[in-house]
Amino acid sequence: MARVLRRVFYKYRLFLFFILMLTIIGSCFLALYPIPEQKNTTNVKDDQGENVVREETKNVINKHEYESRANGHKLAVLVPFRDRFEELMDFVPHMTKFLNAQKVRHKIFAINQIDNYRFNRASLINIGFLESKSECDYIAMHDVDLLPLNSALNYSYPENGAFHVAAPELHPLYHYKKFVGGILLVKGSDFEKLNGLSNKYWGWGLEDDEFFVRMKKLGIKITRPVGITTGNQTFKHVHDRRRTRDKSRFFDQKEKTRRLDKITGVNSVDYTVDSKHELTIDDGYVTVINVKLKCDLNFTPWCLVKEDHEVYLKLIENQANKNKIKKK
Ligand code: UDP
Ligand code: MN
Repeated sequence: MARVLRRVFYKYRLFLFFILMLTIIGSCFLALYPIPEQKNTTNVKDDQGENVVREETKNVINKHEYESRANGHKLAVLVPFRDRFEELMDFVPHMTKFLNAQKVRHKIFAINQIDNYRFNRASLINIGFLESKSECDYIAMHDVDLLPLNSALNYSYPENGAFHVAAPELHPLYHYKKFVGGILLVKGSDFEKLNGLSNKYWGWGLEDDEFFVRMKKLGIKITRPVGITTGNQTFKHVHDRRRTRDKSRFFDQKEKTRRLDKITGVNSVDYTVDSKHELTIDDGYVTVINVKLKCDLNFTPWCLVKEDHEVYLKLIENQANKNKIKKK
């Protein structure tokens, strides 16, 4: 057997030598060839609902195509948020699908208030604007519990001023003429001119009415959807009746929030960003920004929840006593 093998080996020695050399040269070439950078790519639907490759950096490859379709505009959907997890689970996939169907280039932001003050919808929208303005040129101030059902509701760039999607005749709950809450589209440039919304409204309500006055003063036209025939079925308002609205008015809140606020706004909102998270909920995307608002207790003490009032009042009493002693 060994003899046979030796003979075969001898007979094909040149051929075997050739194969060996080829293997060595091939290995050298492979070792020198640069390994292409591994990109973590997956096939996903982009924010226009088309299959594209999304890179780790979240850059959408065929970006130019959307830009031409959306005329270069991009919408920031700003959702003021706290403790409405179930609503957000419905909102994000619904809005992603709804806006994709309209080919509206967009990004959804949930601005989540994580401090211990009362909820401040207006300040959260101001923050959402600041955090999104490098990327988006118009905003939708959007309640998390209000879902548009009629595909004719237009979310494209509001060329002629503000566009109030949740018009009083369509909103399931609010029907007064000056109502601009729920869902309102505003150009970034107009929002800046208006100095955003007042930061004085802690607790539920009135910040949208104050914003209406800001728009009127500056002559910003408010338009609304026309030709919608779905009436009070135009939106789904998933507002859970068990949720109580924080309608308390503490200290001199009532008097101090009755008039147009000429001082505070997007240029004075005081906050820190605690963290940012990119979430996928079913087929939708949302950027959750956890923020802590700051409150000037000398200016708006009504930012405090009822439980903190006692400590606060004691504190100012002590301060007053100290001042008295100093004067003596
Ligand atoms: N919101 C929230 N957590 C709260 C209160 C309000 O996330 O504790 C947000 C949420 O986006 C909600 C919006 O603020 O849709 C308006 O509040 P709400 O729905 O209670 O008021 P409505 O205008 O329906 O009376
Ligand atoms: Mn609601």
